[in-house]
Amino acid sequence: MKEKTTFCGRTAREWALLYAAEANECERLRNELEIATRNETMRKKSQKESRAKVLEKMRKDPSDRRHGTLYGRACGCECERCRAAKRDYDARRKARNA
Ligand SMILES: [Zn+2]
Repeated sequence: MKEKTTFCGRTAREWALLYAAEANECERLRNELEIATRNETMRKKSQKESRAKVLEKMRKDPSDRRHGTLYGRACGCECERCRAAKRDYDARRKARNA
C-alpha cells in the first residue's frame, strides 16, 4: 500500500479508520436513542396504568381525597368537583397570562 498517498491530508488508511469510528458512533447514538424512546414509552404506559387504577378507586369512593383536584381530573374523573378544580385552574391561568 502507498501509505504516502493522501486525500485532504489523510492517508486512505486514516480515512478508513475515521469512517469506521463514525459508523460506530452512529450505531452507538442510534442504540441510545432507541433505549431512550423505549424508556419514555414505558414511563407513559405505566403512568397511564396508574392513573387508570386511581380513577377506578375514585369512582368507587366519592369521598376519595383526590376528588376536587387537578390530579383527579387528569386521571379522568368527571365528577363535578374535579371539573370545578380544572375550571378554576384554567380561569386562574388565563387571568395570569392576560
Ligand atoms: Zn372527581
